[in-house]
Amino acid sequence: KHRNPFEREFHQAVEEIFNSLIPVLEKHPKYMEQGILERIVEPERVISFRVPWVDDNGKVQVNRGFRVQFNSAIGPYKGGLRFHPSVNASIVKFLGFEQILKNSLTGQPIGGGKGGSDFDPKGKSDGEIMRFCQAFMQELYRHIGPDVDVPAGDIGVGGREIGFLFGMYKKLRGNNEPGVLTGKGLTYGGSLARTEATGYGAVYFVEEMLKDKGLSFEGSTVVVSGSGNVSIYAIEKAQQLGAKVVACSDSNGYIYDKNGLNVETIKQIKEVERKRIYEYVNDHPQAQYFEGCSGIWSIPCDIALPCATQNEIDVNSAKILVSNGVKAIGEGANMPSTLEAVSVFLNSEVLFAPAKAANAGGVAVSALEMAQNSTRLSWSFEEVDSKLHEIMVNIYRNSVKAAEEYGYPGNLVVGANIAGFTKVADAMVAQGLI
Ligand code: NDP
Repeated sequence: KHRNPFEREFHQAVEEIFNSLIPVLEKHPKYMEQGILERIVEPERVISFRVPWVDDNGKVQVNRGFRVQFNSAIGPYKGGLRFHPSVNASIVKFLGFEQILKNSLTGQPIGGGKGGSDFDPKGKSDGEIMRFCQAFMQELYRHIGPDVDVPAGDIGVGGREIGFLFGMYKKLRGNNEPGVLTGKGLTYGGSLARTEATGYGAVYFVEEMLKDKGLSFEGSTVVVSGSGNVSIYAIEKAQQLGAKVVACSDSNGYIYDKNGLNVETIKQIKEVERKRIYEYVNDHPQAQYFEGCSGIWSIPCDIALPCATQNEIDVNSAKILVSNGVKAIGEGANMPSTLEAVSVFLNSEVLFAPAKAANAGGVAVSALEMAQNSTRLSWSFEEVDSKLHEIMVNIYRNSVKAAEEYGYPGNLVVGANIAGFTKVADAMVAQGLI
């Protein structure tokens, strides 16, 4: 902590993982002897850079860009770019650190990285977004490549931004390497089912977890926070599996409809018009809008899927969810529950699917996009979706197995951390001190 003062979110992510690793370190002293813990928390490289651009009023704006290349033991750095005013070194490092183990869990050959900027895309014109993305890539391009580091989207970075980033990368490099970014549009190297992958994957994971207890989405009441990429496709898949999704949100407030939300309206508002979620009640007057985010967790539900941002469920929200009888939590966002909230869930009867396992579907399909780009082939939606499903089931089974093997049956936090860690640690030991 003294080496990285003020990096609160990074400390939180490290604490959660290190607490889970105690039984592994006791069983395999070689990891301590080889300094794996000291090495794994130190990024291989952190790049921080100035991003100057001109807004629509002709005024010069300056943002800060980041790319943290955390760990390449099992493959090229891989992880999203986040554009949000809250982005700083701590946020990028917590996300990059989690990404190492998440990517390992997918079974794909990808290392861990993350990046982004404190740029706020909200209210910006398409021209401003394009100029910002171009300015960002003017520095990033020299650090990435299909065999080096392959960024993707995250909060504030979707298909539009990836398109502008890819265009600039191609122009600066003077060649066409589609494998340098994932989440691309379908006409220039994107993969079918990448847009849906994180949300669908989270629901597939929770479905598997419920199945083990004789439960299912069918007939259950679900609350999903956020209304971005992950949330929309979590809502869609949960509905396809027979659930009633009664609420979702954005950073201003949440909507509630006891009869179930209409996902097509949400897509229209958020993906096409890029407006606020309160617009929903204009089309669906029976729904209600409430200001503020945390109130969403007071809605009684069987399954809660936090899909917005870090630390959105605090200890109070966790207690309310449990006392309202929630049966399962599936983390679609990264680290959406505080450490205290996780502890409330783990000490109750609630089934808890931690982010790095439950939301790994997005990066898994990104790796499939890289595979398609390398072979210059495009797979069908059904083929990618069925591979995604298989990967999520495997992550679930491997996490359950690791939790049992190390004496924490049913604890998927411990299971996912251990299953992800051992593969990376073994690769680091094998490759020596680099
Ligand atoms: P989007 O930008 O598409 O959507 C984010 C959603 O969360 C929006 O509804 C946004 O509301 C809301 N939100 C963002 N910040 C806050 C905040 N500080 N407080 C309250 N609400 C907030 O991002 P994604 O859906 O891609 O990402 C959501 C989460 O999922 C993140 O934690 C991300 O790291 C994680 N994730 C994403 C993956 C992907 O493939 N996209 C893969 C794995 C994890 P508003 O519109 O008001 O900003």
